[in-house]
Amino acid sequence: MPQGKPAGVRCVQLLADFRCALFGKPERPAVCVSFRPSEEMCGGNRLEALSFLVKLELATQVG
Ligand code: SF4
Repeated sequence: MPQGKPAGVRCVQLLADFRCALFGKPERPAVCVSFRPSEEMCGGNRLEALSFLVKLELATQVG
């Protein structure tokens, strides 16, 4: 996204099935390429992982 992805805004590269449209492509942002999953972030299931993501989005929201 040209101005970066604001917190709470869906990435334009996120497909309907939650896959990244840029995965494996050179234009995928470096921050996404360098991201590594962890137990703290992923939790034990999808709901726990999404809950962690919501906390990050709220913690990094501007304004
Ligand atoms: S990995 Fe990065 S580019 Fe791909 S959908 Fe997620 S935030 Fe967007």
